[in-house]
Amino acid sequence: MNWEENVRKVTPYVPGEQPDDINVIKLNTNECPYPPAPGIKEKAESFEYGRLRLYPDTEAGKLADALCEYYSIGPEQLFIGVGSDDVLAMAFLTFFNSGKPVFFPDITYSFYDVWAELYRIPYECKSLDEKFHIKKEDYKKENGGIIIPNPNAPTGLAEPLKALEDIIASNPGSVVIIDEAYVDFGGESCLPLIDKYDNLLVVQTFSKSRALAGLRIGFAMGNPRLIGYLKDAKFSFNSYTMNMLSVELGAEAVRNADYFKDTVNKIIATRERIKGELLELGFTFPDSKANFIFASHEKIPAKIIFQELRKRGIYVRYWEKPRIDNALRITIGTDEQMDVLIKNLKEIIEKE
Ligand SMILES: *Cc1c(COP(=O)(O)O)cnc(C)c1O
Repeated sequence: MNWEENVRKVTPYVPGEQPDDINVIKLNTNECPYPPAPGIKEKAESFEYGRLRLYPDTEAGKLADALCEYYSIGPEQLFIGVGSDDVLAMAFLTFFNSGKPVFFPDITYSFYDVWAELYRIPYECKSLDEKFHIKKEDYKKENGGIIIPNPNAPTGLAEPLKALEDIIASNPGSVVIIDEAYVDFGGESCLPLIDKYDNLLVVQTFSKSRALAGLRIGFAMGNPRLIGYLKDAKFSFNSYTMNMLSVELGAEAVRNADYFKDTVNKIIATRERIKGELLELGFTFPDSKANFIFASHEKIPAKIIFQELRKRGIYVRYWEKPRIDNALRITIGTDEQMDVLIKNLKEIIEKE
């Protein structure tokens, strides 16, 4: 017998590249191009380093208080984790145990199938329609759970709340997770529905709209019973997940609400301007409500554009996968970065 036969073998998620070269225009992982709220710098500088010898608050109390106030929810309706990836992984482990397949779209965040494989959860991918929208009837069949990102990634398309509510209401026997990583950029949050449906879990993150990918903060909001089960699983795994600095600085980020709104509005304005410029260059794309655009060119294959941009120090995301292998996911950067992108796209298109 070889020990390797008994290894839990998994094919890990492949994140976008994080180049060391600071001159790269990095439009490949949907980070915020602007710095975090200024209050965070002050908080970090005044942090009493001696405190680090102690374990952190298991409840991440300061951060939880700030989030509860901001979203008008109770502490028993909130779960905090190490980025929403941690929250989602914990939710898969906690809620998807029926043995029936979990449903999610065929074109979506490529971590969902990785968690399903890791935990040996059966799953079925439901194909988006030709315009990349979900077909809600697909989600009304017997299932072991549902996860849908809204807006979806990498398409950027948002679904109307009514369609999602219909899916949630049709599945009282399973937990429905709405992954709202991009909701602050123009989607409609399902948060108002958590009091109405005890099977709904809404998951958000500080990594995109709050410019704090490096701190690793994500959270879920839902019925107290759902949240209770999530906490039980988390505390059976590791009770000190949120480090002191994340709690302290994350709370400050939530309190800097005006800065957050300004940043998001700047990104939305840039996105809308760039949509126009991309159209003029012969690109088409679903109408994004996220901080990225999923664009295909009428003549030049996405792979060529991806490689050409890379040579010029501009990183975007490209997947060689069925249905999406002719599109580039371009994160919205600053106006200056996007002007450089457009200039280079023009040159590449003229040359090809
Ligand atoms: C970025 C992203 C996440 C994870 O973000 P964290 O950095 O782990 O909070 C989750 N879901 C989707 C759809 C994402 O794009």
